[in-house]
Amino acid sequence: MSVLTKLSERVYWMPPGPPDRPSLCAAVGDRRTLMLDAGSSNAHTRTFLDALSAEGAARPSAVVYTHSHWDHVFGGAELGGHVIAHALTAAQLIELAAMDWTDEALDERVASGQASPQHAEHVREELPSPRTVEVAPADIVFHDGLDIELGGVSVRVRHVGGDHSADSSVMYVEPDHVLFLGDCLCDSPAGALTAELAFPLCDAILAFDAELYVEGHGASVVSRSEMQGLIEKMRIAERAVREGSAIAEADEETDDFVRAFWAGAPRGEAPSYPRTE
Ligand SMILES: [Zn+2]
Repeated sequence: MSVLTKLSERVYWMPPGPPDRPSLCAAVGDRRTLMLDAGSSNAHTRTFLDALSAEGAARPSAVVYTHSHWDHVFGGAELGGHVIAHALTAAQLIELAAMDWTDEALDERVASGQASPQHAEHVREELPSPRTVEVAPADIVFHDGLDIELGGVSVRVRHVGGDHSADSSVMYVEPDHVLFLGDCLCDSPAGALTAELAFPLCDAILAFDAELYVEGHGASVVSRSEMQGLIEKMRIAERAVREGSAIAEADEETDDFVRAFWAGAPRGEAPSYPRTE
């Protein structure tokens, strides 16, 4: 069984996996193939490229990043193609490349609170010590967005920002109606969501005429009605935190959103933690 799922006529998807491997996609055009996010390591990228080749698809000539978190970009050097990134992502790639990724440096960053123990554990597991981390810099840098024509298929890259990472961009694949989200809908590394950033982002996401949504760490691809349902839960959670009201029949996702909006609420302004019934 292939590790790849064919989502649509022109889009292949490799689901996320341990320790922190995100979703990867390829959009396959008549002239070019484009990779969407590069994965957590050279090994992760190779698994993807081998599976793509087994499907008879041409090797990607470039990769475009959703954001600069290590698990989405450390595999970029393995591709050996052009790296396309938002200006903020490009700047962070330079910083990641200059960082020390030894076990000692990871331990120091955890001890000083710069990184979580979970982050260090994931890096250790994905890239066993002694590790060499080669972070490919960006070749093509965009600001608001960029359209990439692959031949019979177009990828519209748009910067959307959000609480998870200010550099977040999404990729809309046409005519396949697939929207590749990365982690943009997730909370911040500190576990917070804010109404100021989350709702304009939700509006931007729903403005694409997408039918399938690929999330960075979601085990399954989401339909438009499921995405609308998820965003509605976000709105219910934010309102409950703002008004200090109870939520009837809160499920796990709504509870997670309540926790994140609570963490993101300006202290002193948030009423008591919403009860769930
Ligand atoms: Zn991320």
